[in-house]
Amino acid sequence: MFNNISEKIKTLANVMCWIDIIVSVIISIFIIFINLWAGLICLILGPLVSWIGSFVLYGFGTLIENSEKTTAYLRYLAEAERKRINKEKDRNAEASAERTKNFSSNTNFVKCLECRNIVDISKLDESGICPWCGCEM
Ligand SMILES: [Zn+2]
Repeated sequence: MFNNISEKIKTLANVMCWIDIIVSVIISIFIIFINLWAGLICLILGPLVSWIGSFVLYGFGTLIENSEKTTAYLRYLAEAERKRINKEKDRNAEASAERTKNFSSNTNFVKCLECRNIVDISKLDESGICPWCGCEM
C-alpha cells in the first residue's frame, strides 16, 4: 500500500496540480461572464498559483526518492565492503595455514594441538608425549 511512496507522492502532486488548474479555469470562465478583467486575471493567476503550489509536494516526493536511492547505494557499499573483508580474512587464513605447513614439512617440527607449542620431532621420545604440556601427540 505504501510501496514506492515517492512515486505516489509525485503522482499525487501532478494530479492535484491538474485538478486545481482545471477547476480554476472553470471558475475563471464563470467570473468572465460577471467581470471580464477579473475573470481574465483569475484565468492567468489561478493555474499559475496551482502550478507553483504543487512544487512543495513534488519536491518532497523527489526528496524521498533521492533518500531511498542513497540508502540503497550505502547498503550496497556496506555489503561490498563486508565481502571484501571476508575475502581478505580467508586469504590471510590460507596464507597462515600454508606457512605452518611449509614450516612443519621443511623442518622436523610439529605444532602441538593442545598447547600450540612447536615441538622438535627428533627430540620426541618413543611415546610421543609433548614436552611442553605432556599430552599425547
Ligand atoms: Zn603440548
